[in-house]
Amino acid sequence: MQSRTGQIGSLAARTRWVPERGLAPILTELTSAVDASARLLVLLDYDGTLTSIVNDPRDAWLPREVQALLSRLIRYPRVHVGVISGRALDDLRERVGLAGVIRAGCHGLEIEADGLAFVHPLATAYQEAVRTAGEALRLHAGSIPGIEIESKGLTVALHWRNAEPSAMARVSAAIERVRRLNHLRLLSGRQVAEIIPDVGWAKGESVLWIRDHVFAGGPVEDVVTLYVGDDSTDELAFAKLAAQAITVKVGEQPYTAAAYRLAGVGDVHRLLATLAREIENRWPPPAS
Ligand SMILES: [Mg+2]
Repeated sequence: MQSRTGQIGSLAARTRWVPERGLAPILTELTSAVDASARLLVLLDYDGTLTSIVNDPRDAWLPREVQALLSRLIRYPRVHVGVISGRALDDLRERVGLAGVIRAGCHGLEIEADGLAFVHPLATAYQEAVRTAGEALRLHAGSIPGIEIESKGLTVALHWRNAEPSAMARVSAAIERVRRLNHLRLLSGRQVAEIIPDVGWAKGESVLWIRDHVFAGGPVEDVVTLYVGDDSTDELAFAKLAAQAITVKVGEQPYTAAAYRLAGVGDVHRLLATLAREIENRWPPPAS
């Protein structure tokens, strides 16, 4: 794995510059890992990364052919694939129900994988604070047309995707009221404000937890981690993972801490398809 060390070093250097664009450079890095018979961890955000953004988040379903790609990847014991989302774990399980896929809900505060279940202990302790925040959001913004307040157990979200621009001053005021409550942290996403327990844990921390727990035995230095996401909550993960993962930003927002950039969801699907094909071409078929 001597080449891997060099790749990580160059990756860390690159994140200070403009990310490389398109599929080819990511695939070069991934296929060299496959050639070195590394263990691969592929972690993807859901909305805006695996599925297109839609007006109603309830309508964002994972296309059947993408589920099939995930199935092809997880047949290999050396490959683990997971989805990390701000959605609640129950919600995520309905959308990506495949056995063998890792699921991390509420920004990684709750994680499930084969034989593994994790809930951040402090997140549970601060559930009451989150519930109080949800009540305050309902009180101050619940009646604004187009606003949706979603209680997800460990977190609460205020979605304003369908609100009028003229309502934004009231929305911001409501968010301001709850962001200062004890034990809570505000994560700003794409037309959503997420109130999560302030326990120093979000997507980046959960990626490392997953890496360290799903590959039983063997040094984690042999695990090549790919992390793909589109939103500001993913930016926190890109920064956290800079020297430890191949980080890919989806979309055209000017700022990113990721090393690579893809234009959209279609490119993410093409990346998964090509990765599956490269692995199938290079590795012996998995025992069934
Ligand atoms: Mg997203």
